[in-house]
Amino acid sequence: MTSPSIQDPFLPVPLVDLQAQYAGISAEVHEAIRTVLERGDFVLGAAVAEFEKNFSAYCRAKFAVGVGSGLDALTLTLKGFGIGPGDEVITAANTFVATTLAIVQAGAKPVLADCDLESGNIDVRKIEEKITPKTKAILPVHLYGQPADMDPILDMARRHGLKVIEDACQAHGAEYKGRRCGSLGDAGCFSFYPGKNLGAYGDGGCVVTNDPELTERLQMLRNYGSKVKYHHELQGTNSRLDTLQAAILNVKLKYLDGWNQKRREAAQTYKKILSGVSNIVLPAVMPYASHIFHLFVIRIPERDRVLKELQTRKIGAGIHYPIPVHQMDCHRDLGYSAGAFPVSEKLAKEILSLPIYPEISQERIRFVCDGLRSK
Ligand SMILES: *Cc1c(COP(=O)(O)O)cnc(C)c1O
Repeated sequence: MTSPSIQDPFLPVPLVDLQAQYAGISAEVHEAIRTVLERGDFVLGAAVAEFEKNFSAYCRAKFAVGVGSGLDALTLTLKGFGIGPGDEVITAANTFVATTLAIVQAGAKPVLADCDLESGNIDVRKIEEKITPKTKAILPVHLYGQPADMDPILDMARRHGLKVIEDACQAHGAEYKGRRCGSLGDAGCFSFYPGKNLGAYGDGGCVVTNDPELTERLQMLRNYGSKVKYHHELQGTNSRLDTLQAAILNVKLKYLDGWNQKRREAAQTYKKILSGVSNIVLPAVMPYASHIFHLFVIRIPERDRVLKELQTRKIGAGIHYPIPVHQMDCHRDLGYSAGAFPVSEKLAKEILSLPIYPEISQERIRFVCDGLRSK
């Protein structure tokens, strides 16, 4: 196969292509925005309630509460369960920093467990040893769009009387043994950051749950702790899903399953082309998982050199994430040292996220693969 030149019409290959998606739905989106503008119900308007109804049904959960971001979804859920100062919450050492910052913002302490080399998700064999009398919840992350191994986690939580809060911010529509991510634990937290599989045109987030008490507390916490205007029962905050974003999400939700399917097909194409390449480890799809490929993450030696080579070719590869959370400056106070989570540390040096989005063409995928194989 010959490598296309830098003048190739398929270039550049972005990591995600939000314009391509917008082009396919622009008329519908404009109409949805116009409706909100004409109605003028900008804060907690009709589109928010409509989206909460649609998204809870999509996730096969009873309730959904729209909030300002994925970070707030996690923070408010922890607070909604009464988790705070003096409490510990167990999560994965290789997650995005929002997961651990949410625990800190709730006033609790993140306790980390290493991830599994094959799936990249929290290693269920390493959770139980972290449980102390202070532990209140396990917070698994469905990283890259693949569910964590939830049944052992749910079992363990039940035995120890802990809550399970899913960080489903990368897993809109992913399934674990046929059950939707977000509806498996006591609550599931989503982000609608623009680059997520279901993304708004700005920040947004949501909590889904079957728990009516948590739902009521979240509805208050996001809105200054109030149910009735000017009667404030809780010390809440201002973190409501924006009505314009909810209207846009209502349009996009109808397309989510189709988009996820296209991502799976793109992942298949990558796997077909790269399967014979000896130094590349392709992402594993676990037998219990329906993976939605928020990210397509390979492992490759000399990762930094390869990344540079791809960047020279105008290919938007990325690293998710280059520093495990226990080695971040912001979490130095947790007291973990280098070597504490060897699998997370190893992966941080080897992982490489290749461009993936529903509209990515076969030609672009082939061009990325050519770049990977060049020496
Ligand atoms: C995106 C993301 C978040 C945070 O979402 P925001 O909407 O950006 O606050 C949390 N956890 C994970 C795993 C994420 O990918």
